[in-house]
Amino acid sequence: MKEHYISIINNLYAACDCDALIISSPSDTLYLTGYTSSDIIIVIDSNSRYIFTDKRYTTELSALLGDVYEIVDGNIGDIYKHLRGLKRIGIDEDISYSQFLLTVNTFNDYTYDGKSDTRLLIPIHSVISKIRAVKSECEIKAIERSQSITDSAFKEIKHYIKRGVSEIEIAARLDYLINSMGARTAFDTIVAFGENTACPHAHPSFRQLKDGEFVTMDFGAKLNGYCSDMTRTLAFGSADAEMRKVYDSVLRANIIGISALRAGKSGCDVDKEARDYLTSCGYGEFFTHSLGHSVGIDIHEEPVLSARNSKPLLSGTVITIEPGVYIPGKFGVRIEDMLKITEEGAYNLTKSSKSLIIIDGN
Ligand code: ZN
Ligand code: ZN
Repeated sequence: MKEHYISIINNLYAACDCDALIISSPSDTLYLTGYTSSDIIIVIDSNSRYIFTDKRYTTELSALLGDVYEIVDGNIGDIYKHLRGLKRIGIDEDISYSQFLLTVNTFNDYTYDGKSDTRLLIPIHSVISKIRAVKSECEIKAIERSQSITDSAFKEIKHYIKRGVSEIEIAARLDYLINSMGARTAFDTIVAFGENTACPHAHPSFRQLKDGEFVTMDFGAKLNGYCSDMTRTLAFGSADAEMRKVYDSVLRANIIGISALRAGKSGCDVDKEARDYLTSCGYGEFFTHSLGHSVGIDIHEEPVLSARNSKPLLSGTVITIEPGVYIPGKFGVRIEDMLKITEEGAYNLTKSSKSLIIIDGN
């Protein structure tokens, strides 16, 4: 593990082109340490690596990462003073207000515009995001383990989908299943029935399940710091012709999106292929969000599959394909898989079936 962290730290330091880096966003510090805490600050300069924290964490961090970082129980203000002589300081802009005040007061003669030849504070969040977009093999394995919990929860939840159950009960059960397998939930679980499935991000309510309705569940586990994300739409009791037509169209768009995905292709082109298909089915106006987003330590990472991303996708990125059709007042369908992008295409990390499942209401 030591080599893994030293290598990503060195990559980041080289990519930022700064004399020192100050990193405090919990997602970024987790990426650079494997350790989850919102109370650590990492400082990297040309010959040292420090973790600033307090006594709650020093013993554990020293045991885990003492050979990678110098673990310091101290005031970040002291290291800020130490850094003051340096010309280019990279700073993670996702900081608290108190840290912001400390930063602007300590580095009061620094500028931010990037043009000045004087001392500079340089935002580095976008550089870190770019590096984090390409996952290492051990990150991919962590995401796969997380997704296998999500797949297992899906297998189990079908037994609880019964007439009269509420959206909240199913959401709570999914959360319990994920927690009981040793993971946290990656985000607030979405469960919607009937007309509520027409809201892409519906909040679970006490609405009870009736026959002939769709059930949409969008959920994921977070294990060892890495998220998974999956959506499945099932029918309860029966599905009429219109429901089947929409389901088949969304499933086909999901498969088209997955076939289009490969390294070198742009995010907007992949989005367009799936979107064009839904438009040809007459559902273009009902597909109201982008086709997918990257997943890793955060549930929504860059890059995305949308009209606004014309950049080529990179091998090693983990990304969702989640077309949806939402017909207000009626119902909606979304089918979401999570994939690893490779040079040849995409490898599906989601193992749950996508064929329309109709749960027997008897
Ligand atoms: Zn999702
Ligand atoms: Zn998603």
